[in-house]
Amino acid sequence: MKLYNTLSRQLEEFDPRAQTTRLYVCGITPYDTTHLGHAATYCAFDILIRYLEYQGGKVIFTENVTDIDDDTIREAPKRGTTWRDLGNYWTAHFIRDMIALNTRPPDFYPRATDVMSEIIEFAQTLIAKGFAYASGGSVYFHVNAYEKFGQLSRIPREQMLAVANERGNFPDDPKKRDPLDFVLWQAQAPGEPAWASPWGPGRPGWHIECSAMNYKTFGPIIEIHGGGADLVFPHHECEIAQMVNFTGEDYFARIWMHTAMVGYQGEKMSKSLGNLVMVSDLLKTYTPDAIRLYLAKHHYRAAWEFTYADLEASIVQCAHLIQAAQATGGEGGAMDFAAARAAFEHALDNDLDAPTATKVLCQYGDAIIEHADARRDVRAAQAWLRRAATLLGLRLDAFGPEAYVRFGWEQHSNRFPTA
Ligand SMILES: [Zn+2]
Repeated sequence: MKLYNTLSRQLEEFDPRAQTTRLYVCGITPYDTTHLGHAATYCAFDILIRYLEYQGGKVIFTENVTDIDDDTIREAPKRGTTWRDLGNYWTAHFIRDMIALNTRPPDFYPRATDVMSEIIEFAQTLIAKGFAYASGGSVYFHVNAYEKFGQLSRIPREQMLAVANERGNFPDDPKKRDPLDFVLWQAQAPGEPAWASPWGPGRPGWHIECSAMNYKTFGPIIEIHGGGADLVFPHHECEIAQMVNFTGEDYFARIWMHTAMVGYQGEKMSKSLGNLVMVSDLLKTYTPDAIRLYLAKHHYRAAWEFTYADLEASIVQCAHLIQAAQATGGEGGAMDFAAARAAFEHALDNDLDAPTATKVLCQYGDAIIEHADARRDVRAAQAWLRRAATLLGLRLDAFGPEAYVRFGWEQHSNRFPTA
């Protein structure tokens, strides 16, 4: 199959059977609820895992929890709680959303606070090798010491600085040699949680947390590193700089995969803009299958815009798929699925083209219903349909009268708007 590598800006051949695939996907910072942008990312990687395994590959999947970070420390007192309780609360919430959406659990689910000793080891080694320096109780990575810094994002220095400043960088920090130098360890600020270190009490920087969790789980090299496109710079750029200079390897992740942003009401869905669509709210009205199908209809690398009308359309398609999976055929000639299977696999082989795979699946489902009506044997076709649906994370189990109750009433209630 082919996967797009952000690092090379090219589609690259990836054979899931050639090795075990070590996959690391950056997880949430647990200080708020899961929105549809998060769901789009984790459901896209869920399809990747399922498809690699379908092809006979073995996948080890690590996702992290950034439990100690500027956001959790800043938000906890506002909500009258501690960063740890806040993190546990929202991590549990995220896990419930991921279960509802039928995403595969990670094999490893480390928290940043689980890897403090590895983080300190990283910082010490990078200092010893001349890539980092201690200053006033903090430790910084010196970007000019690594000539390949910028290889992933390929953006000019001025732009790097602007983006980094939006993501927690302090360009005017007097302890830094260069405004772009990023923090590996930050000295304790008044009232902040701290851990002991050779440089005094403090806490880790954001980027080093993921490097340490990656290294502790997988060692120096992984096959695929994923995350949202907003992590390319600075987060993933900095992860590469830390990891390869720590390990001495030529590279860290062979393929870097990034999911595009989801928009709503004309803007990127983001907390700061206040235009979030929460997964838990959608689950009150829509079935998990409808949400999964709706997400699968958008290619993971193409930015798209959420609308309720499009989500409604997915309910109807799900109903058809479930009807196809449960239809009773006859004793006529068995329905063939080889062409549908080939088209479905061809789509996913092509950089995980789930929208095309979804279209193939829905068309084939409609064909099953027609063939069943014509009294043909559709049992093998249905077995394949169910198998293919699982690759998109669909359960196809919410049919029957109960599904119609909600869907049927919603069709009527749309004519009686309440607001
Ligand atoms: Zn990360």
